[in-house]
Amino acid sequence: MILVSKMIDVELKGVQKKFGSNVVVENFNLQVEQGECVSFLGPSGCGKTTTLNMIAGFLEPDQGELIIKGKKMNGVPSNKRELGMVFQTYSLFPHMTVFENVAYGLKLRKTPKTEIQERVKKVLELVKLPHVSDRYPKQLSGGQRQRIAIARALVTEPSLLLLDEPLSNLDAKLREELRDELKRLQQEIGVTTIFVTHDQEEAMYLSNRIVVLDHGKVEQIGSPWDIYNLPASEFVHTFIGKSNRLNGTVISASERDGIVLRTNEGLALRASFKGRTFQSGEAVSIYVRPEKIAFSTGTGGGLQAEGRNEAQGRIGQISFLGSYAESEVLLGNTVIHVRMPSDSQNRIWTAGDTVNLQWKPEDVFVFPGKGNE
Ligand code: ATP
Repeated sequence: MILVSKMIDVELKGVQKKFGSNVVVENFNLQVEQGECVSFLGPSGCGKTTTLNMIAGFLEPDQGELIIKGKKMNGVPSNKRELGMVFQTYSLFPHMTVFENVAYGLKLRKTPKTEIQERVKKVLELVKLPHVSDRYPKQLSGGQRQRIAIARALVTEPSLLLLDEPLSNLDAKLREELRDELKRLQQEIGVTTIFVTHDQEEAMYLSNRIVVLDHGKVEQIGSPWDIYNLPASEFVHTFIGKSNRLNGTVISASERDGIVLRTNEGLALRASFKGRTFQSGEAVSIYVRPEKIAFSTGTGGGLQAEGRNEAQGRIGQISFLGSYAESEVLLGNTVIHVRMPSDSQNRIWTAGDTVNLQWKPEDVFVFPGKGNE
């Protein structure tokens, strides 16, 4: 068998950036493979743009190495890095036509005129806007402008495409459309891409791997599946999607039998072992996602014979959201969110109903600390 190892296009080794005494990017290590789309995901101020700006050459790291296509890039000016970039604001030149905007990078490279004509035409077809070539940016819609910005970034056939929240100025529907388009383009061209976003759904949709950042630190690097199902920390679990939190204590924990817990409300629960070890008596945060909880006809008595978790509660309110409905169920004083398909079977429930909630031990996430908050 021949093992084909993929080329590494971008590598960050122990990269750090400070502003004054404020460390905004700390010991950042990452390898991006050729053709991969990697997202930097995290809340505002976590260091996503600062890291992207170091890769782009707008900022210099204080420590660490930055390697693009096998060449060390520390100190190399941005225009020598063969990058395509798209930002949140369209940043098209207002006094130039679409053609002139897209052709700009090629002109700077002194590309022959006929080649410019051909390449601009080709890239405008790629973003499905061949007919707007003679218009000015102000004559385009927001979505069209951002497509042109993408075309302008791609026309020079960059070795690396850097995107900083390119969809965040668009309305929800357009955003989804352009997200599909971006994914198609990225896969069609196979350009290695780094994408900055604070939108977890966008990151999951577009990327092969996600780097989750918090306060300048890498919390986890993994595929969308891994990030969702095997979160490395409480921060990652709660940042990606919605989750119910219960505070409690570990009763017993072992790799073979899983973790038995008692919530502060006195409910006994079971969680399957996910690689993290706990001590009896340890205070913990316990999470279960709304879509993993079902309404059942059981007795709501805690641990069930078949190992499921059950609890009895009362429906506070139900909100209909199209493909699913979300209920707030009161478990004593704790509100539990339950998401269920909005099919006819679920139409029987109304506010005030007493229901039994059921969820599997494998869907329970346990993290250390905070149990007594
Ligand atoms: P957002 O999603 O809001 O753009 P971000 O994750 O991209 O956030 P950065 O823009 O990288 O975050 O900023 C990280 C931290 O560094 C923030 O606390 C920010 O205030 C700080 N920072 C960024 N640029 C500078 C600068 N030029 N001088 C001083 N502090 C800065």
